[in-house]
Amino acid sequence: MKKIILANPRGFCAGVDRAITIVETSLAKYGAPVYVRHEVVHNKYVVDGLQERGAIFIEEIKDVPEGSILIYSAHGVPLSVREEAMAKNLTMIFDATCPLVSKVHVEIKNLHKQNYTIIMIGHRGHPEVEGTMGQVKDHIHLVESEADVETLPLDRDIEKIAVVTQTTLSVDETKSIIARLKETFPNLRLPKNEDICYATQNRQDAVKEMAKSCDAVLVIGSKNSSNSNRLKELAENLGVKSYLIDFDYEIKSEWLDQVMNVGVTAGASAPEVLVEGVIKRLQQEGFNTTETLNVVEEHMTFALPSELR
Ligand code: SF4
Repeated sequence: MKKIILANPRGFCAGVDRAITIVETSLAKYGAPVYVRHEVVHNKYVVDGLQERGAIFIEEIKDVPEGSILIYSAHGVPLSVREEAMAKNLTMIFDATCPLVSKVHVEIKNLHKQNYTIIMIGHRGHPEVEGTMGQVKDHIHLVESEADVETLPLDRDIEKIAVVTQTTLSVDETKSIIARLKETFPNLRLPKNEDICYATQNRQDAVKEMAKSCDAVLVIGSKNSSNSNRLKELAENLGVKSYLIDFDYEIKSEWLDQVMNVGVTAGASAPEVLVEGVIKRLQQEGFNTTETLNVVEEHMTFALPSELR
């Protein structure tokens, strides 16, 4: 019998939920338009929906008219963006940066004050990486892979050196990069608590478990969603065919040839309504049984800014 296995947890995390609620509540309370710096979360369905309701997504602060309401995306912003926004005559600024990203910002600023050289593990060009690295003006280096460690222009016996990571990386890959850093720089200081967030960790754990019983895995998430890409890679690395899709209509029947068990998960920025669409589409392909694989229970929530409560 053809079966759908649903990973749990999947989909929205507390940081995404908070960021979307900040935009929705601002629109409800102050009316359209509200300006959002960068896609508030990396999901096409969510961003298109908010745009229809009056959110305007911009990349540059110069594109926000004076007197507007501005919201920073969940990925966080560099200090230069905050400074530029503060210098404008804006009515209100709301910060939808995930508190777990803000935690890394605080960590970086403290390390910098203590004269540490900081290594950030992350993906070049990702807004979270730009935001986090942009918390300090110098003495910070980006590493994307183990090979990058060798090219760092630093003495091996440097005394004050610390590492932080993007929150949505592959847990396993990050462990090997940190191990290589530790070998190269024996004085390396590790983060007190992991920077990879609970939601990334839990969704990866659930996919690992789910993939064991699947012939194919569908990951619902947008192409620019870091944590969704990691879920797809993880299933692939376990030898299971894996596809990243925004919508159910992208599923091709040939992907499901010879597939008896299809796994379904969703990145942290993908809403459950998209999962429901995928289940309906799979039912049309003869997958009439659905089973949920519960790996971890989540209870995390983050408070809204006081003006929006
Ligand atoms: S994926 Fe993690 S860091 Fe990103 S918004 Fe969600 S909880 Fe925050």
